[in-house]
Amino acid sequence: MADASAECNIKVLCRFRPLNQSEIIRGDKFLPIFQGDDTVIIGGKSFVFDRVFPTNTTQEQVYNSCAKQIVKDVLDGYNGTIFAYGQTSSGKTHTMEGKLHDPNGMGIIPRIADDIFHHIFAMDENLEFHIKVSYFEIYMDKIRDLLDVSKTNLSVHEDKNRVPYVKGCTERFVSSPEEVMDVIDEGKSNRHVAVTNMNEHSSRSHSIFLINIKQEHVETEQKLSGKLYLVDLAGSEKVSKTGAEGSVLDEAKNINKSLSALGNVISALAEGTKTHVPYRDSKMTRILQDSLGGNCRTTMFICCSPSSFNEAETKSTLMFGQRAKTIRNTASVNLELTADQWRRKYEKEKDKNKTLKESIQKLEAELNRWRNGEAVTGRERLREHPLPDVRLTILFCRYR
Ligand code: ADP
Ligand code: MG
Repeated sequence: MADASAECNIKVLCRFRPLNQSEIIRGDKFLPIFQGDDTVIIGGKSFVFDRVFPTNTTQEQVYNSCAKQIVKDVLDGYNGTIFAYGQTSSGKTHTMEGKLHDPNGMGIIPRIADDIFHHIFAMDENLEFHIKVSYFEIYMDKIRDLLDVSKTNLSVHEDKNRVPYVKGCTERFVSSPEEVMDVIDEGKSNRHVAVTNMNEHSSRSHSIFLINIKQEHVETEQKLSGKLYLVDLAGSEKVSKTGAEGSVLDEAKNINKSLSALGNVISALAEGTKTHVPYRDSKMTRILQDSLGGNCRTTMFICCSPSSFNEAETKSTLMFGQRAKTIRNTASVNLELTADQWRRKYEKEKDKNKTLKESIQKLEAELNRWRNGEAVTGRERLREHPLPDVRLTILFCRYR
């Protein structure tokens, strides 16, 4: 059941990492010029986002200025998604995970884990929480469960509200930030075991950490739920540069099907063609259907290298972010009715039904009199009807 909904654009935040050692040794130029807190200039062209974070921005600043609000939203019953997009080595994993067990170096996911429980401990004690997490990756359009290595090709199904989800993926109940961190550590070690070259693998696969929060008020039985997807995408250098001009991406040039599908979905949404959005072209775009143009508050981090060596990729990333900025989502609270609310709703519908039935009976009686050649005087005709449209339709059908 959806409560009041609000339209909002996808938030796009741009983060530049510092030059790394090998770029400095090579003598690469530092390209970006930062203006205010929302603009970056590259090669004379300005790019404006919701925020632009220069190279010296700390993990804590990044978290406080954008991700913190999402935790509140999810606890209020909204769905949320945070993506990190950018070429390999641009800072996606640094932004999403960072140094997992280092208080200063930790990225968004461990901070969210802390924050969720921090909020919950301060909330009404009559609220009962069920928090589940899942962790999987998508490699060559196959979904692999990182919490159960035997599940190597999970499929995407739709729930009763036609919202896609990964069927059969492991869900772990967690009750503290430490338990969330244990699940992340477990998933990451499974990921390492399964592949020989982790760097190459992570640049070609997407990892998705899903936090599912359900809460129930023990007295009123009111239920709220919110899903939070945290997505570290594959390296965007695999996306054809033509995508930067907004044209449909050339499949043949792309190794990574889901990333090109993501580009196509964003292009279609940015052009306003909501009816033909190719969500079904990849597993990732299907899973994240609600995050792109649906019932979700979505934030996208555009991660960039500052080096002149990466100028073309950085520009392409910035253009991608500009297109994503135009997408509008309609987020609504995932509120379930309590048994009592259902009963009241049912009683109201039953009353409405009864009134309608009575009106139909009267109308049929009147119709029969007309058919039998009787004249029904003005006073005898049924005038006051709660739903005049219904009356007209019935008469029209009968006479046709
Ligand atoms: P990606 O996941 O996009 O491939 P990483 O997050 O692994 O890239 O970053 C590549 C390297 O750059 C890592 O060693 C990381 O610690 C470092 N790095 C990335 N972003 C920053 C930043 N904002 N500040 C300092 N170091 C960074
Ligand atoms: Mg990475």
